[in-house]
Amino acid sequence: MKRIILKHGEEGRIRVGHPWVYDNEVGAILSGPGDSPPAVLLPGEIADVESSRKEYLGRALVNPGSKIIARIYSPSKEGIDKGFFKRRIREAVNRRIDAGFDLHRESARLVFAEADFLPGLIIDRFVGWPLKELESAVLLRPVAFYPAVTALGPPQSWLAVQFLVYGMDSRREEVLAALEEVLEQDGFIISGGVPLGKPVGIVEKSTAKMRELEGMPPREGSIRGSFPSEGIVIFENGLPFMLNLIEGQKTGHFLDQRDNRRRFREFAQETASRAAAGGRVLDAFSYTGGFGIHAARSGAAEVVCVDVSAAALETVRINAALNWIEDRVTVVEADVFKYLRSCERRKEKFDLIVLDPPAFAKSKSALEGALRGYKDINLSALKLLNPGGVLVSCSCSQAMDEGRFRRIIADAAADADRRLIQLDFRGQGADHPVLVGYDESLYLKCGFYRVTR
Ligand code: SAH
Repeated sequence: MKRIILKHGEEGRIRVGHPWVYDNEVGAILSGPGDSPPAVLLPGEIADVESSRKEYLGRALVNPGSKIIARIYSPSKEGIDKGFFKRRIREAVNRRIDAGFDLHRESARLVFAEADFLPGLIIDRFVGWPLKELESAVLLRPVAFYPAVTALGPPQSWLAVQFLVYGMDSRREEVLAALEEVLEQDGFIISGGVPLGKPVGIVEKSTAKMRELEGMPPREGSIRGSFPSEGIVIFENGLPFMLNLIEGQKTGHFLDQRDNRRRFREFAQETASRAAAGGRVLDAFSYTGGFGIHAARSGAAEVVCVDVSAAALETVRINAALNWIEDRVTVVEADVFKYLRSCERRKEKFDLIVLDPPAFAKSKSALEGALRGYKDINLSALKLLNPGGVLVSCSCSQAMDEGRFRRIIADAAADADRRLIQLDFRGQGADHPVLVGYDESLYLKCGFYRVTR
């Protein structure tokens, strides 16, 4: 086994649980035990990582072509084969079950890369019904939606997988075989000993920028089974949402905001009962309307969803119809920066605004420009809020830490001449675990603030 020996003093971060080794932290690469001769690393192979004093730190997947030259996947000397992947996937599924997920009914991220000790591997599992089957149930508009839907029979599942680092990509078939065996054969105790079941389809979505940094082209498309061409419907917090993982327009669903949307719904409810005429809600960077639909379903009189993506807004319309709130949801295809400024000029007001932008800061070097962007939108949004109104502000940027984020909100409030009370401050759902010592795994920040009267 090759050994990566770190430079003096570079082991501290790794010792407290951070899985990455950067190329400039490496002192030597040895071909074997003791004082064996130097070696070169091959992309995708595994190697041991040691401190400058030769203390063992863990075993890693390596890629000499990447700035992150090694990603530790185990603190021990365990090898990688199908059995390893089965063990890791089983552990990850059990973590979701322990966190309270009912995986027979709920959609969840089953594997969250390094935070589940599987570097660069992401597996999302969506549980629901083909849209076509559901539409007939929806047309009846039953009072209790979910029971009417379950009358359709048990839900089915579809998976979206991402291979984002070289060593995981090169073991793709092994990973998929392990995944299928765990889902089809393992009886997870808390779910009544019943296997989660064979997915109807698996789609690959390895399109993240990280693949470029790993020297790999994007890869995308159906790899197993089938997907209904009109899309599927999942339930989140009891509400139906449509997604289409395959067809041209391609809309998915961000599972990480599930609990924050539920919290958001509470404020929408409160707004609806307090604000004049039921309240106005702005869902900025709405994508398929995750937040806005929750607000409209809790009684908000008017919800405006703004996004630049026409495909996402088309899905907002479908979601509004599925939730029987078409009359209360308006979509606007626009750049949020411009839209907020135009609202300022028109002196439009809102009672509840959510800002959920994409990761403006994709890297540490891009952070400066991104900070300005975040501040801009928060400042504008605060100006549009009625007194007593609530701002929900999110950042999913790994490079932006919590402290920086809080400072931006404070600066924006000062510039907008508003006093804010923090109502809540949250991260991502438990199916996106946070690994202590690996700060990048806590990437989602979601602050709830009330503008004082
Ligand atoms: N809030 C959503 C997720 C938002 S993802 C949910 O709960 O599901 C970010 C969205 O921002 C994407 O849909 C993208 O199309 C959109 N977007 C990116 N830049 C934008 C801009 N400048 N103006 C408007 N929308 C933008």
